[in-house]
Amino acid sequence: MTQYDPLDDANARAAAYLDGLRDRRVFPDAKTLAGLREFDEPLPPAGRDISDTLRLLAEIGSPATVASNGPNYFGYVIGGTLPSVLAAQRLFDAWDQCASSFDNAPSVHKIESVAANWLLELLDLPRSAKVSFGTTTASCGFACLATARRTLLDRQGWNIDRRGLNGAPVLRVVVSEAAHSTILRNLRLLGFGLDHLELAPVDEHGRVDPERLPPLDDRTLLCLQAGEVNTGEFDPFSDIVPVAKAAGAWVHVDGSFGLWARANPDLAYLAKGVEGADSWTVDGHKWLNTPYDGAAGICRHGDLLAETMNSATVYAPGAGDAQMNLGMEFSRRGRGLSFWVALRSLGRDGLTEMTLRHCRHARMLADGLADAGAEVLNRVVLNQVLFRCETDEATQAMRDRAVATGRIWFGPTRWQGRSACRLSVSNWQSSDDSIDAALRVLGEALDRGHSGREAAAHQEKL
Ligand SMILES: *Cc1c(COP(=O)(O)O)cnc(C)c1O
Repeated sequence: MTQYDPLDDANARAAAYLDGLRDRRVFPDAKTLAGLREFDEPLPPAGRDISDTLRLLAEIGSPATVASNGPNYFGYVIGGTLPSVLAAQRLFDAWDQCASSFDNAPSVHKIESVAANWLLELLDLPRSAKVSFGTTTASCGFACLATARRTLLDRQGWNIDRRGLNGAPVLRVVVSEAAHSTILRNLRLLGFGLDHLELAPVDEHGRVDPERLPPLDDRTLLCLQAGEVNTGEFDPFSDIVPVAKAAGAWVHVDGSFGLWARANPDLAYLAKGVEGADSWTVDGHKWLNTPYDGAAGICRHGDLLAETMNSATVYAPGAGDAQMNLGMEFSRRGRGLSFWVALRSLGRDGLTEMTLRHCRHARMLADGLADAGAEVLNRVVLNQVLFRCETDEATQAMRDRAVATGRIWFGPTRWQGRSACRLSVSNWQSSDDSIDAALRVLGEALDRGHSGREAAAHQEKL
């Protein structure tokens, strides 16, 4: 008899899970969710066998996941995990490096610095910028915005590291009306106060309108975005960034998924001019299809990022290229590793192919939805599709019907004061077949809405 190997067992169960992703329910049914009760057990006095733990996870945990790592999931902007990254991740877990600096983790330090250079090259951002690999756009964005605050105050002769916020010169924040909630949370946590934010009005596509932009000055932090979460649209950077820079403002760009358009010759026009900003964020776990969680904060003024986030002491910069001095985490896993594996396995061409395919699939969905009688609300310049039915009630009922089939999942949203639905095509497995299948489910859900209304109208006549 061969000896039991937990890694082999876990591998086999992981492979079976991946195999089943395409054909299972996307959101688990009530019975499966009720099964989660099995986890309600007392803390065992003596340790349980790992084979039993893996069994419990596979039998009860796996079916009650959301199949967001498969091609039938269109919620939020949630990518899957590329098989290449999943495989390499296994080795990284075995390394278990505390990748805070070269001294703790030489190979991770090296690989992350290569990943940083590739990222700057791909996104065509200043090669001298520094990249902080962290958990999320939210946390990497915090580092960028903290750097902006510190720098703007420093230019007013105020050292925030020593003097803090009490009595500090007042800064202004101009932020897109369509900014993501995590930007607002960061600004709130950084002490700017929601009541003091100046909202920049957006046009019908969710882009900041340059004509209605509040005046900017050298005490202003301006937050723009590449990839509005509903429409996938981009702020007009070429019109705004040079003006903001001339005024002395700091420009931060939330590019959580949209910034990847820069890496694609056919999509790069969307984010033209974004390279003039001071700081940017981009996620790996969304469009690049790296696992949760991994993101990058990029700062043109790398030394300022390193001074702001320095964790040796706040005013004596330590090793400026140590990741512990560039982001929120001190102890950390090397979150740039998954970027490196994904980019090395896709190559420039693979990334271009994947993102273009997603955009094509988004247009297929939009066309199919329009044919089936839905109202598509965006121009579908990227991978996001926004649509609704005649009334808010019909929109919500249509989504409920579609999601209840278990063959698809997508989220509700609000757009211009009304209920809408949003589909995001961001999974590496997305294929013409999976999109056709999605359109069949969507079409049926729309159709039953129409026939429901016709039946009701018919009833009224009788
Ligand atoms: C998802 C998203 C965020 C937040 O990203 P996290 O990685 O979840 O922190 C911010 N902005 C936009 C536009 C997003 O789509």
